[in-house]
Amino acid sequence: MPAHAVVLGAGMAGLLAARVLTETFDHVTVLDRDTLPDGAEPRRGVPQGPFPHALLPRGRQILDDLFPDLVDGLLRDGAMEGPVERFRFLLAGVRFARVTEGASLLSSRPLLEAHVRAAVRALPAVTIVERCAVLGLVAEDGRVTGVEVDAGRTITADLVVDASGRNSRADVWLRALGFPEPPVDSVRVDVAYTCGRFRLRDDAMDGDQVVLMSGVPGNSRSGAVFPVEGGEYVVGLGGTLGESAPTDPDGFHRYAATLPFPDVAEVLAGAEPCGPLRTMRFPDNRRRRLERVDGPRGLILVGDALCAVNPVYGQGMTMAALQAEELRRTLAHDPDPQPRRVHRRLLQATAAGWDNTVGADSADPRVDVDRGRAAAVIGRWVARVQRAAGHDPVVAHAFLQVTGLVDPPQALLRPAFVARVLRADRHDTGPQVAAPARAASGT
Ligand SMILES: Cc1cc2nc3c(=O)[nH]c(=O)nc-3n(C[C@H](O)[C@H](O)[C@H](O)COP(=O)(O)OP(=O)(O)OC[C@H]3O[C@@H](n4cnc5c(N)ncnc54)[C@H](O)[C@@H]3O)c2cc1C
Repeated sequence: MPAHAVVLGAGMAGLLAARVLTETFDHVTVLDRDTLPDGAEPRRGVPQGPFPHALLPRGRQILDDLFPDLVDGLLRDGAMEGPVERFRFLLAGVRFARVTEGASLLSSRPLLEAHVRAAVRALPAVTIVERCAVLGLVAEDGRVTGVEVDAGRTITADLVVDASGRNSRADVWLRALGFPEPPVDSVRVDVAYTCGRFRLRDDAMDGDQVVLMSGVPGNSRSGAVFPVEGGEYVVGLGGTLGESAPTDPDGFHRYAATLPFPDVAEVLAGAEPCGPLRTMRFPDNRRRRLERVDGPRGLILVGDALCAVNPVYGQGMTMAALQAEELRRTLAHDPDPQPRRVHRRLLQATAAGWDNTVGADSADPRVDVDRGRAAAVIGRWVARVQRAAGHDPVVAHAFLQVTGLVDPPQALLRPAFVARVLRADRHDTGPQVAAPARAASGT
């Protein structure tokens, strides 16, 4: 058994990677430059913490598998089971039929991360070191042998896993060691996401727990309402390519009224703010193609460091979980995997998440992405499936299983499903969103 693995970053991807590394390594050290709170508090290194964070059904399955007691602890601390029939999906201009099968876990991101962190810290093989910034990699004879940390110290490792997020310095560090930088796939979306916590009117949600609204062609504004522990809700409003919901309360409400459906504005009416509104920007969908270059052995990238997608679709933590699962499978066969091979497998594990996101983003004609013939055909089919999901709960469920990363996108092409969508066309009453709302009242 190899002796020591070092993980850069104690975010969700780093913690999940650390958990699976304990099956292959005697000791796992997780390094984070932040001071890590004891409880469910936001922290500097994860600025997205206060924003709505959905854990998709597939992510929950993997967390259950890796940490069997985790969900019970979260529920005790205020997380909620979210039966999917209480989710209002307003996607691509379609008010989805109610789906009854399935459940999510609802909590703030800091609460979820605090519980995962505590579970990882409790593993005898793991040490989490806070306030420890990694400054570079150390290599010898074509392999990474450790990391350089504060004060010029080095920590040696048989494997280094970089889970330091989308701003990972891995490219720079690799170049400094004489290795090629990986090519990067980048699809620019310039998402601005503004959110705040609110106490809602008692009847504001009309019995629902969650509202999820995506943009439509001509109006890419989106919105999300999520319950968090303590009886509060996080409300997030998104915009792309130069649009941004304001951080003053009046402007925030006005922007909500320009979304494709009125639901978020209605929920916000009479809501009491519980803190400041804040905006976070996300420039591009981005993945580092490490399977295309001869990188060093002994270094593996995971999480947002490897592949970061538009947060509006809520896939990032689930993609990190899918990669942890793949890392576990790969290391079980080969504790020192060939770098191209391991990164190919990790990127394959999250290819559906990338394709879902880029496919949805490319519905906006302003997004500069290769729209080949195949992509156009797939885009038209997905739009048809979404329209059918407006009146057929079976179609809605199948679509949400794909976007929840439970089923592969090919599930939408199975003959019985295709026939069902075509039959549902007979009930199609046309688009539910009449006109681009943006024109109505810009902010
Ligand atoms: C606004 C927003 C909303 C989102 N909503 C959702 C959602 O609804 N559902 C979902 O699944 N995902 C969502 N995501 C994505 C999700 O937050 C991430 O994909 C997921 O947390 C995986 O991130 P990570 O662990 O790879 O990186 P991060 O969360 O960025 O963590 C990186 C860690 O590395 C540490 N670090 C960085 N550099 C160094 C260094 N040099 N040395 C030591 N430590 C370092 C940081 O302190 C941090 O702890 C959202 C993202 C954003 C921006």
